[in-house]
Amino acid sequence: MQSLWQDREASEYRGDLAQRVYTSRLLGRDKTLVLHGGGNTSVKIRETSLVGEAEDILYVKGSGWDLEFIEEAGFSPVRMSHLLQLAKLEALSDPQMVNELVTHMTRAAAPAPSVETILHALLPHKYVDHTHSDAVLAVTNTRDGERRIKEIYGDKVVVIPYVMPGFDLARLCAELLPRQSNAGTIGMVLLNHGIFSFGSTARESYERMIELVAMAERYLEKERAWHLPAAAVSLENTGLTTAIAELRRNISRCAANPMIVSTDVSAAARAFAGRTDISTLSQQGPATPDHVIRTKRLPMIGRDVEKYADEYRAYFHQNATNAKDPKTILDAAPRVAIDPEFGICAAGRTIKDARIVADLYAHTVDVIQRSTLLGGYQALPARDIFDVEYWDLEQAKLRKAGAPPPFTGEVALVTGAASGIGKACVDALHARGAAVVGLDIDQKITTLYKRADFLGLHCDITLRSSIVDAIAAAIRAYGGLDMLILNAGIFPGGESISMLDDALWRNVMSVNLDANLILLRECHPLLKLAPRGGRVTVIGSKNVPAPGPGASAYSASKAALTQLARVAALEWGADNIRVNTVHPNAVFDTAIWSDEVLAARAAHYGVSVDEYKRNNVLKTEITSRDVAALAVGMCGALFAKTTGAQVPIDGGNERVI
Ligand code: ZN
Repeated sequence: MQSLWQDREASEYRGDLAQRVYTSRLLGRDKTLVLHGGGNTSVKIRETSLVGEAEDILYVKGSGWDLEFIEEAGFSPVRMSHLLQLAKLEALSDPQMVNELVTHMTRAAAPAPSVETILHALLPHKYVDHTHSDAVLAVTNTRDGERRIKEIYGDKVVVIPYVMPGFDLARLCAELLPRQSNAGTIGMVLLNHGIFSFGSTARESYERMIELVAMAERYLEKERAWHLPAAAVSLENTGLTTAIAELRRNISRCAANPMIVSTDVSAAARAFAGRTDISTLSQQGPATPDHVIRTKRLPMIGRDVEKYADEYRAYFHQNATNAKDPKTILDAAPRVAIDPEFGICAAGRTIKDARIVADLYAHTVDVIQRSTLLGGYQALPARDIFDVEYWDLEQAKLRKAGAPPPFTGEVALVTGAASGIGKACVDALHARGAAVVGLDIDQKITTLYKRADFLGLHCDITLRSSIVDAIAAAIRAYGGLDMLILNAGIFPGGESISMLDDALWRNVMSVNLDANLILLRECHPLLKLAPRGGRVTVIGSKNVPAPGPGASAYSASKAALTQLARVAALEWGADNIRVNTVHPNAVFDTAIWSDEVLAARAAHYGVSVDEYKRNNVLKTEITSRDVAALAVGMCGALFAKTTGAQVPIDGGNERVI
């Protein structure tokens, strides 16, 4: 652990609050200190109010802000005088405390102040930094953690026994700090929770945090508890795809919503999952209360979701004893599942949620293993963990307003996704909340979007092995498959039957027909496990109901594909998989239709480009977005009771009507 402070960088942050922003970001950059909105910082500043009165203001991290990216606006300005008055109260409930904090800010639009605000106010230093350092937790979360902390730090820190964050913790710190500190005291260690440092400048407080954490790291190294065992190999076992999808189906069922499950098959994850003592080691509890709300109290070992849920419900009923404040049980589905074959799986309502769970748990894995090397990991008692897990304040943060988009938690696979209708389908699926796996022969698919809910894979769909690998990668990333959009296809020119080349015919059949058979067959076991039923949309062609001369291979391939989809609808109805087809025509905003080609075709028919584009009953232009909206819409609620259908999207074609 090293200080990231740089004089030149720091000099750009002028003023006390700006300095607070700078060192908060430095803390946020190190993921072993704080993760995903964890930790908090503050600074006390004397200001003059609008009516000319001098007052001390505590700027403390506001909820919803991540230290790594915090700005001045992310700090909530709360009047110190009121905070110090509050601290004298005998008791203060959480809702009361939140109300008092919010109503004593000097900026109405500021975020809600951290629940640790009163604690920050009570510390008599200008700058205060708080993290949940992995190294410090690895030391405190042992049977003799307190003794070890004292051995490391002497009277550099005051040791605070575990108390749930909030008013009572602030009171306890305020009581112990003056009694136990001296001139050399630079911080506080909160057992089973984290560490505070403080100082008169932003740099001093920050560098004391770094110094204290570095001391814990050196101690772990000296005690041979720093280096973790590595796994022999990192396997990317493609044979496990169905098993992971089954796990996701069961987790989704238990959570009563489709869930994303991402699987960490890294060497570190497999080393942990493969430990012979995993079933005792992982079942002690979380590393810090900060993680509980996301990861739940314990991970699931193995794949029996029902058993896990039964135990979780029993844990709830054991602890939820307060009749005055009846809590409602959270869904009993696990958020972390550990399996020696899979590695570590993380579940969330969205991929963003799942990634947060995965990150938090990866750090928990480090803490648990180091504590174990140090002599035995020991988490909080179950009762204390329950209080945090069912803490109204934290629960409220997770509750988001409004209904989520309709495909939230679901996964779609789109072929030919790099451009045209395929790319438009990706956009339409994202807009409806789905995570999307896009396949394409064009390498640009891999960098098409840089977002967690998109996995772009280069894939030659005419090769079964290429498809199998892509599906395996999709399952590792998102856990399952709910929707399949078969879009990839080729349209070669010059196909008059009398001149037709055998190789061209075979090539068209292999891409437009055979590849889709492989895709359907390989995806079937996964679509069967879709929590809300599987859905397939086939992009057909107007040429199926109304073929034209000169496109025999194309028309024949699309007709055969349509027939294949109809049979799939019949065969897979019992598996609750719907299969429907759209027949687009004259979609000109795709790669094949350059401006020159369009102009040439229009000239050939003696019409303007615009007339050529709108040559249909409705005299309307059909875009990739229109086709995508229908193709993706067929996976949605409106078509919930439709399968085996063929719907044209062509502006009305006289030969089709
Ligand atoms: Zn904390």
